[in-house]
Amino acid sequence: MPKKTLANLSSSDISGKRVLVRVDFNVPLDQKGNITDDTRIRAALPTIQDLTAKGGRVILASHFGRPKGDDFAARVADKFRLTPVAARLSELLGQPVVKPDDCIGADVEAKVAAMADGDVLLLENVRFHPEEEKNAPEFARQLAAIADLYVNDAFGTAHRAHASTEGVTRYLQPSVAGFLIEKELQYLQNAIENPQRPLAAIIGGSKVSSKITVIETLLDKVDKLLIGGGMIFTFYKARGLSVGKSLVEDDYLSLAQKLEVKAKEKGVDLILPTDVVVADNFDKDADAKTVDIRNIPDGWMGLDIGPDSVKTFQAALSTCKSVIWNGPMGVFEFDKFAVGTEAIAHTLADLTKTGTITIIGGGDSVAAVEKVGVADQMSHISTGGGASLELLEGKVLPGIAALNDA
Ligand code: AMP
Repeated sequence: MPKKTLANLSSSDISGKRVLVRVDFNVPLDQKGNITDDTRIRAALPTIQDLTAKGGRVILASHFGRPKGDDFAARVADKFRLTPVAARLSELLGQPVVKPDDCIGADVEAKVAAMADGDVLLLENVRFHPEEEKNAPEFARQLAAIADLYVNDAFGTAHRAHASTEGVTRYLQPSVAGFLIEKELQYLQNAIENPQRPLAAIIGGSKVSSKITVIETLLDKVDKLLIGGGMIFTFYKARGLSVGKSLVEDDYLSLAQKLEVKAKEKGVDLILPTDVVVADNFDKDADAKTVDIRNIPDGWMGLDIGPDSVKTFQAALSTCKSVIWNGPMGVFEFDKFAVGTEAIAHTLADLTKTGTITIIGGGDSVAAVEKVGVADQMSHISTGGGASLELLEGKVLPGIAALNDA
């Protein structure tokens, strides 16, 4: 682990100290404002409980939703308040959680001053201040002024240089990683820098354009690269096949060809689906049939990988010691076209049982493994879609780079 973590701090570093902890409590709510999935709150509990057990005064900061507007007054709205999160956190911790109506200012300072060792306070949504996303130094200084040290445990926003993820580290020492970020780095970074081989990556999703960097980076790291989702049709068209009405990015045809050439040069096994499920239109009830990729009919569009492709993918994965998966194999939001994605989810669950390290790199692939009920059977499920993709792309995450080195 290249960065200092909470595990490197002793009780005396924490006891009686005010600890600013950046968490990702951006949980989904239903129409009535009830939390529908508290995974992100639970994911932060080990860090919070370690700090309270060591006598720290825990000051939590998070964003919540996307408030818009030029200033605080324009951005404040009840639906973006962290009130339901504070209530749920209090239940999970079994202790009160104080939540002021802002994240800086006199009232916050008074509430922090009233904290005892082991207390927990949740600041109001940091994105009520436009200065948060602008990483404005004065706002970061004000946030930092209420604390003695800093812990970042918000992996999902670690790829953003915001005041509460990067700016505050200029004013707080030490600044360390929490347990969640530590675990994310251990799995994701190890998986590509120091993997158990053979290493396979499965990349899906809609567009080549959004996954080019990750595909290019992975070609330097992996032994096998399996591609599914909407982007396969750009590869097929580049090979001269007919793709009907399937999603194609014509600007990326030559790039798709180059990626195939690069894979050959690197000795990477680039595996594309052999059959696809095509639909007569983009609809959950569309007419559908499975065809060989050489026989996609005019006027039809590919919305999932077919059963033969699943077998091909399974055979390729069966010899691998580590697998990273990012992006669905088809339009899995429609049950009819979720079969390929769900089959890959089950395949990875089975592989985990036989000792393969399986890593689900955030976003829609996480939703897919959760939908089929195999989430707890994977080695690691990333809590950050964008952040995990950027890490796999080899990018430096500013929220992590800013922490003290180990
Ligand atoms: P991404 O955000 O790039 O990972 O893309 C996820 C989206 O890709 C999901 O909403 C899927 O519905 C979509 N997708 C997957 N396969 C296809 C396909 N064959 N055609 C169109 N969209 C697709």
